[in-house]
Amino acid sequence: MARINDNYLKLKAGYLFPEIGRRVREFTDANPSAKVIRLGIGDVTLPLVPAVIKAFHAAVDDLAKGETFHGYGPEQGYSWLIDTIIDKAYKPLGVSLKTSEMFISDGSKCDCSNILDIFDNANVVAIGDPVYPVYNDTNVMVGRTGEADEKGYYENIVYLPCTAENDFSPAFPKEKVDIIYLCSPNNPTGTVTTREQLKGWVDFARKNDAIIFFDAAYEAFITESDIPRSIYEIDGAKECAIEFRSFSKTAGFTGVRCGLTVVPENLLATTAKGEKVALNKLWNRRQSTKFNGVSYPVQKAAQAVYSDEGWPQVKEVIDYYMDNARIIREGLTAAGIQCFGGVNAPYIWLKTPEGMSSWDFFDKLLTECHVVGTPGSGFGPSGEGYFRLSAFGDKGNVVKAVDRIKQKWGK
Ligand SMILES: *Cc1c(COP(=O)(O)O)cnc(C)c1O
Repeated sequence: MARINDNYLKLKAGYLFPEIGRRVREFTDANPSAKVIRLGIGDVTLPLVPAVIKAFHAAVDDLAKGETFHGYGPEQGYSWLIDTIIDKAYKPLGVSLKTSEMFISDGSKCDCSNILDIFDNANVVAIGDPVYPVYNDTNVMVGRTGEADEKGYYENIVYLPCTAENDFSPAFPKEKVDIIYLCSPNNPTGTVTTREQLKGWVDFARKNDAIIFFDAAYEAFITESDIPRSIYEIDGAKECAIEFRSFSKTAGFTGVRCGLTVVPENLLATTAKGEKVALNKLWNRRQSTKFNGVSYPVQKAAQAVYSDEGWPQVKEVIDYYMDNARIIREGLTAAGIQCFGGVNAPYIWLKTPEGMSSWDFFDKLLTECHVVGTPGSGFGPSGEGYFRLSAFGDKGNVVKAVDRIKQKWGK
């Protein structure tokens, strides 16, 4: 009989969102008239902007005519899209990239999982705690870890606790690590890595021959001027970092699917024998073999995000979500609840009042305020005692939810 990849059995069952769904259903079945407001989702809610839709439609029409039909495109993505992104999203940051350093994909969840293909399992990986669960689980799947302990920490992963005590900026690992995942603006905490902190990580990585995986999925939500949007704003990052970006949250592409990965040509790692190899070449080989590119209409739609017509429309949607974030942050703070994030990210990470556990607060918020959020403990042991609210909702509902929370907890 064929053998499975036993590493999959080490994974904890996807417990968080099914459990949230179960508790919400149980409550609404018992209280059918309750108007439940969901601020738990990590998905956008507003439609694609008109300029994107126009480009999407036009590209579909191209496919209907022989002269403009497109079959397979380059596995790396069309150069007109790559060059537009370099010009509009990196150049203004003072970052210059070559076309060959960027790879278009169907989203950054896949990329930050697939990247493990080109690294040996002997590498020691460091991830934040709490964390976007994909970083942890994909390392379990490839067999880099042992079993999980009773807290949920896997053997052979170095966890970097991020809590209010360290301002959500973890200390450098004491043990030797080879790969470090950083996510800024952060999901779930909504906090950001400052320029100085990011410089610290780049210097640390270079000194210790480590590689940083920098997930910048929420860079478009940064409002403060000196927060880095790309790790390549830091000197030396092209020698130590891979960056992931996505159109999902930036432009509402969660259902459309488009992302990108930057692998600078100067980024090296070693073979078993100690010879240095360019990771760009390996990633290119991996993508050319296992991936056949993102569809032409999707890439046209993505390019329109950065057009003169598209960007202001996209920015308006981002501002709408960030105004929701402000309403949540200010409202909860007024109710005496300690909040983090929500200034440069569409997530508010709150400290549960009265020392409640994350799940106790979930139940109280659901049954007394009819508001759904996400228990922080679902993102890792250090998330216990915290709770995530998302700003990706309807403003009227956000205002209502905040009023209910204020009535309950406000003095
Ligand atoms: C939403 C999200 C992504 C984007 O994933 P896609 O596959 O591009 O939709 C990446 N990283 C984090 C932390 C996210 O929250």
